[in-house]
Amino acid sequence: MRTRIVLWDIDGTLLLNSATAGAFYHDAIREVAGVGPHPDEPHAVEHGKTDGQILAERLERWGGDPALFDAVSRRMDELSDAYLTDAARRRAAPGVDATVTALAAAGWTNGLLTGNSPHRARVKLEGAGIAVAAFDWDRSWFGGRYLRRSDLTAAARSDLGDTTAVILGDTPADGEAADAVGFPFLAVATGAYSEEDLRGTSARVVLPDLVRGLPALLAALSAF
Ligand SMILES: [Mg+2]
Repeated sequence: MRTRIVLWDIDGTLLLNSATAGAFYHDAIREVAGVGPHPDEPHAVEHGKTDGQILAERLERWGGDPALFDAVSRRMDELSDAYLTDAARRRAAPGVDATVTALAAAGWTNGLLTGNSPHRARVKLEGAGIAVAAFDWDRSWFGGRYLRRSDLTAAARSDLGDTTAVILGDTPADGEAADAVGFPFLAVATGAYSEEDLRGTSARVVLPDLVRGLPALLAALSAF
């Protein structure tokens, strides 16, 4: 049987967003580059951005040395081990394990397409109690060092050749990145964007969440 793969986004899709998740970016940049936010800086909207993009933009905004990007990224990975401990654990979105199981039963491979590094993805999912072995880590794409989400998606498209693949994510940025390389986009409203917001994207289906949305998700996938 030919391979079909669902590429899962992580933040807002497999995991509920967390108000404190941004602290690791600050801490890594402050420790390695010695700079931090300006006192009156407005909160930046960063949903849908890759870690690489968030780090590069903050380094630039705060006057940090861009040459320290790799060192800051490595420090982010180290700090992210805190996701395995109670204080920083993330919460799985409702219905994740059942949905991953149902997709596999329907003949789909579960892969990841995320703005996180592989290490950060693993500790965030493990800390939230998600069965990481249910994902095909060799057919997953990670944006920890990519500055644009569309470059990450393009890499996945190139590696997958003509394999059938869809993106399941929670932000219009996921949809735009999918559109740019011709992946169908499926949306779930468990992140920062509402169902109505997501209906304004190219999404083939918009799920309220993975529990109520599972039948619609399976129906949408059966079209591919
Ligand atoms: Mg997301």
